Amino acid sequence: MSATDFDLIVIGGGSGGLAGAFRAAAHGARVALLEPGDLGGTCVNVGCVPKKAMWLAADLSQKLGLAAQLGFSLPPPQFDWAEFITHRQRYITNIHASYQQRLDAHRIALLRTRGCLRAADTVETSEGVRLRAPHVLIATGGHPLRPGVPGAELGMVSDDFFNLCAAPEHVAIVGGGYIAVELAGVLQSLGSRVEMFVRGRRLLNGFDEELSLQLAEDYRQYGVRLHLDYSLRSVRQEASKFVLRDGTGADSSQFDALLFATGRRPNSDVCGATQIGVACDANGHVQVDEYQDTSVAGVHAVGDVTDRVALTPVAIAAARRLMDRLFGGQPEARLDYADIATVVFSHPPIGQVGLTEEAARLQHGDAVRVYRAGFRPMLHALADSPQRSLFKLVCVGDGERVIGIHLLGEGADEILQGFAVALKRGIRKCDLDDTVAIHPTSAEEVVLMR
Ligand code: FAD
Ligand code: NDP
Repeated sequence: MSATDFDLIVIGGGSGGLAGAFRAAAHGARVALLEPGDLGGTCVNVGCVPKKAMWLAADLSQKLGLAAQLGFSLPPPQFDWAEFITHRQRYITNIHASYQQRLDAHRIALLRTRGCLRAADTVETSEGVRLRAPHVLIATGGHPLRPGVPGAELGMVSDDFFNLCAAPEHVAIVGGGYIAVELAGVLQSLGSRVEMFVRGRRLLNGFDEELSLQLAEDYRQYGVRLHLDYSLRSVRQEASKFVLRDGTGADSSQFDALLFATGRRPNSDVCGATQIGVACDANGHVQVDEYQDTSVAGVHAVGDVTDRVALTPVAIAAARRLMDRLFGGQPEARLDYADIATVVFSHPPIGQVGLTEEAARLQHGDAVRVYRAGFRPMLHALADSPQRSLFKLVCVGDGERVIGIHLLGEGADEILQGFAVALKRGIRKCDLDDTVAIHPTSAEEVVLMR
């Protein structure tokens, strides 16, 4: 291959890499995309998509329980996990096919191989073929990280969760972040007995504390056992069971399965970034400026390999804007990382956009005013189920500009998107007050808070 073969080489065919490749090609760039695994990367294969499928199964299971309490005569539901996987996999296979069609339509050269940077403009494949282009996009994502304690290799990580074919009877989950909370909810709803081992004093650091406490209460009501302030010292296997030992030397119960959901590490070393001098932070994240440029001219990075918000739509949005800048004649195009909405698919889900109350008070002190609505969603009230919703608005200043929206409860995942647009547009509390409610819904509580 010669220097003129491509305008852009993309390393990694996940959310960010594919989005970048498509957008660059749409602008007329000649693009090569290197991906040794399944198209779609983490999100499509071992992340958002299969996770949401399992969440939907868990949600149905909970709803069947509520239906039985409300007069439907149903045989006790039996969940055939293996059959569900065939539906999940069919859905994913369709996504792969659709990506392949789009790559073909955009005339993007897909190389089913690993790429390694040899120079700013040179990427070498595993087979030793050297490709050259004036721009290289690093979009290699990350991988799950286990804690550094003896025996940690015995436990599963989130990638392994998607190979399960049945609910393990008794499961230990270490971690209290997104993945731990989401998979704990799924497993408990689909029949496992779940115990969570969290090193902090609460679930979901970085989310609103009141909502996190309410979610912990909802989880306890469903039967999840929470061990907070837990310090893991080691793990061992006894026959086919797993036992955790804490910092005081005390042993846990015996578990049939152990899952670590203790964060992820960026794939920066495997793609040669560090070897050609691309600056990375202490955790291995590729350092980028506001335009997604690395410390090496012509080399750019997006998504989980950087230290920005590790979410699929963020990787996609950053990649698209980068390509608009490089190939679309938009020299100022870049992603505004402020006020990105996010949802944790817990049971019930949590959605947040903007500042938490805690962060707002640190920034704005007494100028902060908080509105709350705590209620039982109608379905749960009818079925006399204890699940509660808690919505919060964080406002600032005399004009009460809305700078944080926090929703815990049924439907929060779907409700938040529209309100995230409103927050980004700078709405004030009085704009919500002026909006006539949609009744009876959970969403109306957002415009009815007093
Ligand atoms: P990835 O999607 O990880 O893609 C990187 C790709 O690079 C991979 O396909 C990999 O094979 C390839 N690669 C690596 N090294 C090389 C190399 N040397 N050469 C060539 N290719 C290489 N986000 C959400 O927004 N919503 C969710 O609900 C959500 N749920 C999640 C659930 C789980 C269990 C996990 C783990 C993550 C979840 N995420 C979710 C996060 C989301 O999946 C990531 O933020 C997103 O996939 C990041 O995209 P990316 O392109 O940066 O990396
Ligand atoms: P998170 O950063 O969300 O959570 C990691 C958890 O593990 C935290 O509770 C952390 O504690 C704990 N932890 C870290 N190291 C250790 C250790 N050595 N021993 C014990 N506990 C430890 O990471 P996840 O792996 O859950 O998810 C990775 C990222 O993927 C998320 O940050 C998110 O960006 C993305 N994601 C998004 C989802 C969505 O959009 N719905 C779903 C899943 C993932 P502490 O808080 O004290 O540091």
